Amino acid sequence: MEDLLKKLVECPSISGYEKNIRDLISKEIRPHVDEVKVDKIGNLICRKGSGSPKIMLAAHMDEVGLMVKYIDEKGFIRFEPVGGWDPKILLARKFEIHGSKGPLVAVIGSKPIHLQEREEEKKPVKIKEMFIDIGAKNRKEAERMGVNVGDFITNHGEFNKIGGSKVTGYGFDDRVGCLELIEVMKNLKNFKGTVYAVGTVKEEIGLVGIRGSAFGLNPDIVIAIDVTTSGDTPELKPHEAIARISEGPTLVIKDAISIVQNEIKKWVQDVAKKNKIKLQFDILSHGATDASITPMIREGIPSLSILTPSRYLHTPVEIVDMNDVKNSAKLVTELVKTAYKHF
Ligand SMILES: [Zn+2]
Repeated sequence: MEDLLKKLVECPSISGYEKNIRDLISKEIRPHVDEVKVDKIGNLICRKGSGSPKIMLAAHMDEVGLMVKYIDEKGFIRFEPVGGWDPKILLARKFEIHGSKGPLVAVIGSKPIHLQEREEEKKPVKIKEMFIDIGAKNRKEAERMGVNVGDFITNHGEFNKIGGSKVTGYGFDDRVGCLELIEVMKNLKNFKGTVYAVGTVKEEIGLVGIRGSAFGLNPDIVIAIDVTTSGDTPELKPHEAIARISEGPTLVIKDAISIVQNEIKKWVQDVAKKNKIKLQFDILSHGATDASITPMIREGIPSLSILTPSRYLHTPVEIVDMNDVKNSAKLVTELVKTAYKHF
């Protein structure tokens, strides 16, 4: 599983530019499903089985990134964030601009400490004050190198195995979910009904892809597969983030725009207990998943989110425990197998 996760996170695809990751997921999932389609806005829709109930699994294919906004006369590039970025982690990092002539190494410049006044050292730099340096001597040269307004920019860093069963890398949100989606389809053998494994587009900019795909498929239940913040690191108070890495898959009870239905919560608890999967809950003040919006689609499509705890979300050094990843995939597989009893 680690090898496939490495492949998924090394595949550059930010919101709106999901083709690379969509091609990779289709290739991996095709042998395990009956039909693979891409809808009009780019969602990947893979079907397995037929009849009722209809179960939709959704993992978003996009990752957060940046976009080229303006190239100045001296060849420096201003950018627009795509998805939620903490400005502190952008400075002095290497990125890749995906221009018309292939990927280019780019750095976000930062004023050397030698030149900073005392007050500047304390003041955070805003994203609109930052710029990208690709070594071009002017705008013409930057354009000759293949850079254009609207090009997408990624920051991949490295994927590494670290202590125990943990791994670190970039874009685990939501390549971990994409991996689990593929695993569930691999593992699913005997089940009643139809499963749609859907890779959604543009989740990070406002849950875009799920809306049309859930409306179109009109499933009986939607299960979003994603990641959540792990609250076990120093300086975080225990109640700030209640999910913990290495403690198993997480069922979201409440997020910014949704609350899970009580019967669904009970179903998930029962399935976890029967299969001896340790389950934890999450309550989120901010943010939402693809599942949060579906109760507001059509006459209301019931949903739930199974999230894998990850440390340092939306940074290039996220950490997940592969045991949590395996158990999340196992839990979702068992939910699919028992869905016919409830829907
Ligand atoms: Zn996500």
